[in-house]
Amino acid sequence: MKIIKSNIQLSLSFFLFFIILISCSKKPIVADIMIINGKVYDGISTNAIETTIAIKDDKIIYVGTDYSSINAKKTINANGSIVSPGFIDPHTHADSDLSNPKLSHNLPFLMQGVTTVVTGNDGNSLYPTSKYIKSYKSHGIGTNIVPLVGHGTIRKQVMGTSDKKATLDEITKMQSLIQQEMDAGAFGMSTGLFYSPGSYSNTEEVIALAKIVSKSNGIYDTHLRDESSYTVGLIPAIEEAIEIGRQAKLPIHLSHIKCLGVDVWHQSDSIIGIVENAQKEGIEVTANQYPYNASSTSLKAATVPRWAESGGLDSLFIRYKNTASKAKILKETKRNITRRGGPEKLLISKADDSTLVGLNLLEISKKYNLSAEESVYKALSTGFVKVVSFNMHDDDLANFMKQSWVVTGSDGGSGHPRKYGSFPKKYAHYVKKENVIDLGEFVNNSTSKTAEILQISKRGKLEVGYFADIIIFNPEEFKDIANYNDAFQLAEGLEYSIINGELSIENGEFSNRLNGKVLVK
Ligand SMILES: [Zn+2]
Repeated sequence: MKIIKSNIQLSLSFFLFFIILISCSKKPIVADIMIINGKVYDGISTNAIETTIAIKDDKIIYVGTDYSSINAKKTINANGSIVSPGFIDPHTHADSDLSNPKLSHNLPFLMQGVTTVVTGNDGNSLYPTSKYIKSYKSHGIGTNIVPLVGHGTIRKQVMGTSDKKATLDEITKMQSLIQQEMDAGAFGMSTGLFYSPGSYSNTEEVIALAKIVSKSNGIYDTHLRDESSYTVGLIPAIEEAIEIGRQAKLPIHLSHIKCLGVDVWHQSDSIIGIVENAQKEGIEVTANQYPYNASSTSLKAATVPRWAESGGLDSLFIRYKNTASKAKILKETKRNITRRGGPEKLLISKADDSTLVGLNLLEISKKYNLSAEESVYKALSTGFVKVVSFNMHDDDLANFMKQSWVVTGSDGGSGHPRKYGSFPKKYAHYVKKENVIDLGEFVNNSTSKTAEILQISKRGKLEVGYFADIIIFNPEEFKDIANYNDAFQLAEGLEYSIINGELSIENGEFSNRLNGKVLVK
């Protein structure tokens, strides 16, 4: 009798135990948004996984195959679509849009699937960072921002735009401003050593400043001193960047890696070799790249010798009017135009004088009845002129793209389609059409790898505990529309963008909500 009783008790307690276990396992997970049925690229795996993602507040709270226990306020059925972490763009010129309350939605980037942009590239940042962080917070921003401090900006604060070597005292002053900007939240320092005033600095100056960045665990991002054969040459410029990393002991990120102009075509193999040797030595070297064979810059930066513009535009025209220096300026300008493939390869994409837009420099020289090099100065006298410069070889472009350490970046600024199309173009053209890289690599090198390079925590992957920056796009329709004739057209095919857990794009439409945040280091 006793045995029967204890058996009954035992079964009863087992029964109760199972009831508790079942009720525990079936306790619903309360979520704000749940994404089901999509082909999920999580930022790490190279293949898609069919998995469900649930979001609560600004975080991912569930990634798995079963959604029966999730109780979500909103469910997105991503059947037939690709789900990915939001793209992170390591090189943009979005600063001015983001600081303008009317353009701070950052739609050209948002519609490409970009959820985080780096600002302050090419040595040029908005100063001081603390003031802009406050204004971004007060008017709202459409994407997250990762700020960098620009070396050129800091040099200008201390030394103006003059072409001279920094004194020890000036270096100390620049160091303290770099420290101030790092303390305000910058993720690192950018340089534009090709541009004025960055080009006036020597390697020692940059190392001395990079050491400050290194102490705050920041990165060094650079527009090389020369991407072509203007001054030191492309390969020595790469070696200079690596030397800065070696001496200042910080990670080096080469922006918009390319072989610019016929003089340096087919050097990509040598460059890859140099970078990989540095990596073996223990220096962290990575790069970003935009998927276009034309670059874009101002007509001045592309053609005018740097010494001639020391002191600014007024000084340039004083030198140009002086017969002795004019001949030298024109000779070097002609050489710079040849380096970029000739006047027909320089297309005006934006200008204060709108009659120049859409013409190449050859057409402008016919219009002015002047030589191409003289036309540069006549055009510059009308105001700002921006050019698209067709100067890259497709083999170099593809060669760089295949490297595991090269991530997607747009270098997006007005007047080049890359501001509106880089990420979807890389997908539609280089992944789908040309098969240069596969879809998993494209996603990983546009998300987690970029986050790792920039040291952005908890973004770039679809993992529990990560911030919910997630995009969903239609694999057939995701593509760039902007081209060289009309560079201002939004990309197509993005269905959803979720930033910090909130919907920014819903059914392909902008929700009019500014869900971005300034990320600080
Ligand atoms: Zn640049």
